This record gives sequence, structure tokens and C-alpha cells, in this order.
Amino acid sequence: MMFDVKSFLQNYAIDYKERGKNIARNHVAIDCPFCTELSRSPHLNIRNNGISYICWKCRARGKNIFSLLKKLLPEEFGKLNPFEISEILSEYPYTEDENEEVLSSSSSNIRKRKFKKIWDSFLPINKNSVFYSYLRSRGITKKLDDIRCAIKGKYRNRVIFALKNAEGEIVSFVSRSIDNNAEIRYLNCSKQFSILPASCCIYGLYDILQLEKLKYLVITEGIFDAKKLIINKVPAVAILKKSISFEQRELLFDTLDRNLPIFILLDSDTTRDERKELKMSLSVYFRTVKVIHLSGAKDANMLSKLQIRILKKLLDTQVYKR
Ligand SMILES: [Zn+2]
Repeated sequence: MMFDVKSFLQNYAIDYKERGKNIARNHVAIDCPFCTELSRSPHLNIRNNGISYICWKCRARGKNIFSLLKKLLPEEFGKLNPFEISEILSEYPYTEDENEEVLSSSSSNIRKRKFKKIWDSFLPINKNSVFYSYLRSRGITKKLDDIRCAIKGKYRNRVIFALKNAEGEIVSFVSRSIDNNAEIRYLNCSKQFSILPASCCIYGLYDILQLEKLKYLVITEGIFDAKKLIINKVPAVAILKKSISFEQRELLFDTLDRNLPIFILLDSDTTRDERKELKMSLSVYFRTVKVIHLSGAKDANMLSKLQIRILKKLLDTQVYKR
């Protein structure tokens, strides 16, 4: 059932935050009652309409808001049955801001048109072009259908990789200069022109979801890492950074089975803390999360075909060992 979480929390004098690094849109964050006394911190996100919650620290997650309320306010709710709790919650009706709704849908149509105009200005990869030579130099000679290039404008001399949402619609992109000495090597589609900001997207996820059989998933940092693995038949996606955003996590959780083994393969310059942090945020939902270390300070996109084959074998045995 829906209820207005903010007015509810205000009434029970529970502190909440609306903005911050670990707070998603349309959510508020409170101190998590499921976390242990010592590690308690505002990591529990509750959707503004009360239909779900998740703690990024202790893995508590669910749609049963009653169990959360019983834990949060044991004196007030501990002994009540669901019917009685529903009665109380109905005193906090949730109303969506209609004006906001209309505004955002019309601005999103304008946004879609703007984005389409940019995307349509890009060209497919021609095998006789400098763009193809560049891709080939990075080991990418196949599966070029989601790659474009630009010969003019802001993204001139760049190869452009489509970012799709879970439905397969292209909603943003990442570009890479084909000049290794370029001042800015990677340039994302700006937030204002994206249908969905690049920080909310996971490169390759839509295509992975189309696979008939998915035994595991490798999560990499960069586009080239993921693309190279995919070409060599290792199911991989790229999160485009060393950390994963709230929206990216939600996207993985919403589309993948929690029993799917997850392997993290970050670049060699990643710190221990960064690896740990990423592993922790994925372990909130997935049962098996492992970090792969490449020896010899290599990045995934620098692996040879043979090395990828060895990696693939290793991953297969890891999966079957469970
Ligand atoms: Zn917690």
C-alpha cells in the first residue's frame, strides 16, 4: 500500500534525508534499524510512496513495509496486525504532484527529440575508415552494430558507443577519441541531452539480457573491457566507473536473478578500497560476488584472445564449483 513516507516520518519524529550520495530519486534515507547498533547509518532508502525499501549496508530489502515499521517503531507497531497498520498508514495519503508529472513528461519528449537529433547525426562504422582502424587496434572487429562515429561537431573524431535502457532503447552514449593523445579521451553524452544520464546506464546489459543462457556475469569498468570480452563470448557489462551508482544497482537488481554469479573485473589501477566497496554494494543483492585479479597489472581490454580463453575456462569452473 502507498502512504506518504515523509509526513509519516515527521509525525513520528524520525530524522530523514532527501539528498545525498546514497539516496536515490524519489526516496528518503533514514538510519537503518536492521543494521547493527555499531554500524548504524542513514543507508536505508524508503521510496517516498512507501512501497519498498532497501539498505545499502546490511542487505535488508523488501516490499513488506510492515516488517520495517515493526522494527523501526516497536512500541507503536510491534503488536499490531497488518489491518491495524494499514488503518494507521491510511492517515498519510500519498498524492503525486500532478503538475510535476505533466512537466516532466513534456520535457522528456523534448529531451527525446533532442537526443535523437544528436544520435542520428552519427555514422555507422565503415570498414575502410580510420574509425574502424582504431577499433581494430583495440581488438574490436565484430559486433559493431551499437557503435557509431562522428566526423563533425562536438564528438568529431570519436567512436560512439550506444547506452541502452532495459527495454533496448538507446538513451545515452559514451564516446572515445580515436586520437590517443587527445586531451579528453572519453566524453559522455551530457546529462541535459541524454534521455537517461550515462551514470544511470550499464553498457551491454540489454544485449546480455537477450542471451538464452546466462551462467554468470562479469562486471567491468570500461566499454572496451566489456566489448572485448563479449566478442570473445564472455558475458560482460561495463559500469563506466570504478564505483556503481544507485540507479545502476537498481537496474541490475531489477533485471537479473540474485543467484547469478557476479565477477568483478576492474582495471589494474583500482585501489583495494574501491574493489571492496563495489563488492559490498553488489553483495547487497547477489548471493555470489567475486573479484577477479589479473596478474601482471593488466586491464581486461589488453588481454589476448588466448588469455581471455583461459579466463573463460576459469570462470566456468568457478561457476560449477559452487
Ligand atoms: Zn541496514
